[in-house]
Amino acid sequence: MVTSHSTIAMSLIAPGTLFVFGCVFCSAWLVERRRHYLLPLALACVLFSGGALVQVLHLPDAPYPNAMISGVFYTSAVIAATEGILRRSQKRFGLAMDIVLLATFTGLLWYFCYVTPNLIARICVQNFGYGAILVVASLRIAPQSNARRIDRTLFWIMFIFAVQFFPRTALTVGPNAVFSATTFGQSPFWQALQVSVAIMGVILAFAILAAAFSDLLDDLRQERDVDILTKVLNRRGFEERSEILFRRVSKIPLSLVLCDLDHFKSINDTYGHQSGDDVLRRFGQMLINEVRGSDLVGRIGGEEFAVLMPDTSEAEAVAIAERIRSAAENNLHQVLPVKRATTASFGVIERRAGENLRQMMGRADKLLYTAKSAGRNRVARENFSATVDESNLEDPVRERLSARVATH
Ligand code: GH3
Ligand code: MG
Ligand code: MG
Repeated sequence: MVTSHSTIAMSLIAPGTLFVFGCVFCSAWLVERRRHYLLPLALACVLFSGGALVQVLHLPDAPYPNAMISGVFYTSAVIAATEGILRRSQKRFGLAMDIVLLATFTGLLWYFCYVTPNLIARICVQNFGYGAILVVASLRIAPQSNARRIDRTLFWIMFIFAVQFFPRTALTVGPNAVFSATTFGQSPFWQALQVSVAIMGVILAFAILAAAFSDLLDDLRQERDVDILTKVLNRRGFEERSEILFRRVSKIPLSLVLCDLDHFKSINDTYGHQSGDDVLRRFGQMLINEVRGSDLVGRIGGEEFAVLMPDTSEAEAVAIAERIRSAAENNLHQVLPVKRATTASFGVIERRAGENLRQMMGRADKLLYTAKSAGRNRVARENFSATVDESNLEDPVRERLSARVATH
């Protein structure tokens, strides 16, 4: 076979780059082993480079064994890449499917090499097949409307990479192609196409690496902003996200509920710090269960929590606070060794025009103090008669509200 050294070198640039990506994915996996998807991605890069090496260096220098060996490398690379990308989104084809795919592709290649030798069929099987696998996989990771930018980018790069196999194959088997099993592999046309797919593979690998990096940053941000004990936002996370919310919603009603566990020190003193922690954990869970996903829940002090509710009037926020108060009164004691009063007090306000978070916190804190001095286990609010439309509430709720809502 006569192939110039420069052509070989050119053909090896993209697979070489992918090999480097493989090493990077593998190192990243060694550092962050819980990111399981990095390992199949490392494998995919190395397998693709292996396939290219087999083809470019003619190892072995016989068309059919070469086609078979490189085919197994390429098919395994596509399957590994697909599994890696799917696993990043908590999806997968599964090992059984992977084995079926590899066996099917290998069987078809073998058939079109040794039973009915047909180069066009081989090209179609590999390219249409790989394209189909990647299209299916990319559709499975199709981003939701609220997806992060990196997930959208990764989806589109993968989708384009998948779809390009179809016109690429049409071009390959089209009128320009040179069809002889021995010379086809050396034709500049085929080699240009091989290089182009390797370059697209490098772009895809780069996008996946960027996505993995973004996942890592997200996790770090999450760890920085979330309270380990209660799993709600910590003060820093709550304030930062509140600021973002304030910028986004300048007009719609926005309410704040501040709550503080009653006589919490005595719970610690009587049952131990561990039991106190259990109460905090359960209360954090109650808050998350009782509010909407769009509300911000934060632990802003030792046993003090805040909930910021966009698109919520004071009356609605009072009703929600009352629901949380009642849930705490009825269930919070369950984590303690004995049934004892384990309650919380609440201050509820609606944002006034131009008010910032600190000012809202100040007002809510005063109301919380009112609730405490009025006897605890109650919800305090301003302008009670002006804004609560009690006629909309069910009777039991109305009764409890009247009994428990303190006015400033
Ligand atoms: P009040 O009804 O007036 O709010 O009384 P209180 O006892 O709840 O309030 P106080 O401020 O006197 O006590 C709060 C206690 O919360 C004191 C502190 O040791 C406890 N605490 C703060 N952070 C934690 C924590 O992470 N775990 C546990 N177990 N206790 C905590
Ligand atoms: Mg307290
Ligand atoms: Mg307190």
